[in-house]
Amino acid sequence: MSQFNTGFLEVICGPMFCGKTEELIRRVRRAIIAKKQVLVFKHQLDTRYVKRNLMSHSKISHRSKVVKSAKDILKKITPRTQVVAIDEAMLFGTELITVVEKLVNQGKRVIVSGLSSTFDAQPFEPIPSLMAVADRVDKLSAVCNNCGKEAIFHKKLTNNHIDALAITAKHVGEKDIYEARCRQCFNLD
Ligand SMILES: [Zn+2]
Repeated sequence: MSQFNTGFLEVICGPMFCGKTEELIRRVRRAIIAKKQVLVFKHQLDTRYVKRNLMSHSKISHRSKVVKSAKDILKKITPRTQVVAIDEAMLFGTELITVVEKLVNQGKRVIVSGLSSTFDAQPFEPIPSLMAVADRVDKLSAVCNNCGKEAIFHKKLTNNHIDALAITAKHVGEKDIYEARCRQCFNLD
């Protein structure tokens, strides 16, 4: 890789059920068709991994790696790697910000997907910080479960008091716990 290669950061974000992972996979597929060296990373907390991996194209699953932390991503990158895709960014926490900056500075194209806000509609790092320094940001919306309009938030339906920033696999999206809501319907019930 030439030291003059310029990196590029793309952020795909939005609430649960907005199709972030599908968009990430679409871009990965296109990079593979373009014969780029692609690596896809998922956090081990993403319990949908096995199911998703089976559903997605085999060429993508060959390039998918499960890691425990953002730093582990750096260990798996080689000088040949051109495109790095990272799904469910919020599971990696703020440590992902410096890791992504390093990769972009190495000239990689980095595609990061994740929740932009928590279930109580607050900014959910690391996505807000990555959006600020990205070359391209796509903020997707879901469909409001209540009225069918564009949903920019997701809401927790159960009443148990859990920390919105506490990272569990539940943050990845379960339809019996969370619903997509528009700004108006977010404040109902
Ligand atoms: Zn609504």
